Amino acid sequence: MNSSHLSDRLQAVADFVPKNSIVADIGSDHAYLPIYLAETNVISSGIAGEVAQGPLNNAIHEITKANLLDIITPRLANGLAAIEPTDHVDTITIAGMGGTLISQILTEGQNVLKNQPLLILQPNIGEDIVREWLMNNHYEIIEEAILAEGGHTYEIIVAKAVVSVVHYTSKQLRFGPKLMQVQNDAFLNKWRHELATNQQVLRDLEQAVHVPKEKVEKIKNKVTMISEVLNNEG
Ligand code: SAM
Repeated sequence: MNSSHLSDRLQAVADFVPKNSIVADIGSDHAYLPIYLAETNVISSGIAGEVAQGPLNNAIHEITKANLLDIITPRLANGLAAIEPTDHVDTITIAGMGGTLISQILTEGQNVLKNQPLLILQPNIGEDIVREWLMNNHYEIIEEAILAEGGHTYEIIVAKAVVSVVHYTSKQLRFGPKLMQVQNDAFLNKWRHELATNQQVLRDLEQAVHVPKEKVEKIKNKVTMISEVLNNEG
């Protein structure tokens, strides 16, 4: 992967960035995403934020090599502290981190979110945590994508600020309100695999000498939930 050929995962994130945006890519590492967006004329300017010096050096190296230092500013900062009011950022991308960390970055950066930027989030795990954060902080999930690459399944969540709270059910938080409507191959493969794994765990647990009732109940609920979604039942 490099800035002219993104991974399918980062390409899917890039595809959600509106034309003429001013983007802050938080946790940018090599800054492949903002460089790609600048080279394809999607963004007029951008910030590559990094909390760690090593990845920031990668970003500086790649941005300099691409001759884009006048368009993309690399900044060493924790989370949304990389964004300054004069940047006029209207779109924030956060990709390749866990859902808990993404939620923490958003919580700690509430002052930046006052300007209501579009959020394009790609948690590697804990997607439900991110969706719950969005719901609790007056965001509506407007688009989602799911794709498989290199043995992993990735979900991308796009959200915009809204005045009144949009309530999501526990199924929508877990499966994605948009993803569960479409149920593409990546979605079906992910959840069929999850279902089979949980059914096997259930069989193993039920054969145990001392059946851990609470754990069995929890997994049974999960199996029911996944089956219902895959069968489009409520
Ligand atoms: N966004 C790129 C991608 O999706 O390919 C890089 C993902 S990399 C796995 C995660 C990056 O996030 C690391 O470079 C790490 O230093 C950075 N990071 C972690 N916590 C951060 C924070 N609080 N603020 C800014 N960057 C952070």
